[in-house]
Amino acid sequence: MAAKLIDGKAISAKVKEEVRDEIKQGNLKIGLAVIIVGDDGASRIYVNNKKKACEFCGINSFEYALPEHTSEAELISLIDKLNNDAAVNGILVQQPLPKHINQSVVNAAISPNKDVDAFHSENVGHIVGGDFKFLPCTPAGVMRMLEAENIDVCGKECVVIGRSDIVGKPMALLLLHKHATVMICHSRTKNLAEVTARADVLVSAVGKVGLVTADMVKPGAVVIDVGMNRDEDGKLCGDVAFDEVKEVASLITPVPGGVGPMTIAMLMKNVLTAKKLEQK
Ligand code: NAP
Repeated sequence: MAAKLIDGKAISAKVKEEVRDEIKQGNLKIGLAVIIVGDDGASRIYVNNKKKACEFCGINSFEYALPEHTSEAELISLIDKLNNDAAVNGILVQQPLPKHINQSVVNAAISPNKDVDAFHSENVGHIVGGDFKFLPCTPAGVMRMLEAENIDVCGKECVVIGRSDIVGKPMALLLLHKHATVMICHSRTKNLAEVTARADVLVSAVGKVGLVTADMVKPGAVVIDVGMNRDEDGKLCGDVAFDEVKEVASLITPVPGGVGPMTIAMLMKNVLTAKKLEQK
């Protein structure tokens, strides 16, 4: 029997409605600044989607589109200005940045209380400790999807493929905080298929079309596809060979319409959290 789809669009719509209602009820004035450096086509699409979500939730969005040749010092100076701007509650610098700008320097420059991507080392430390203010949007979106489907990961074997700072590592930590038994795989993992076949919950965050095939998935597993790739026809797809894996899994996220919309919804939630922090 084919797996049930986890509908990221519907779950994310609910999260955004919650944020919108709380903003409306509290009559809150909230702002998100989004900085984009250069002319990356995919980044432009993400930024536009974030803008639309802000409009829906009643969050003011301030966009700063900087040219590719912007220096690191110029970018940091803008971040400093936004750190001190009372109309701005959250600051997001769209990745990827041009090669001459150091991502770590940028992450460290954003005030931890406006760090709605949760990339600042102070917030990363809180995430490791489990006492977080902000959760990184994509892993938080995955957790919310699991919750929406009443999947309790306590005691389950969860495998995360990918160990990036923005997805794989925090994803593993959030699962661990919920008492899952977690394994993290990466490009040096030996016998990937043997490890993934143990997973009750398998999360793929790699960026490779067709990486996860049916033989790598335990029958009845929950499969979450974080990957965002283009196939040979230029069509958006994930890491999972969807057509064959859906015949083995019990629940599966589609791409598009899975984790992607959740990431944006959780960003809106983080901007609201930033406002609440400021009010404290
Ligand atoms: P990344 O920084 O490039 O990390 C990719 C990870 O995959 C690395 O840890 C790498 O291992 C591992 N890897 C590469 N090839 C592998 C293989 N053959 N087998 C096992 N592991 C392998 O990417 P990212 O930023 O985490 O993003 C991952 C994917 O998620 C991308 O497709 C990205 O577009 C997508 N994404 C989606 C959303 C969303 O909202 N849906 C948000 C963020 C990212 P090493 O560490 O050993 O190199």
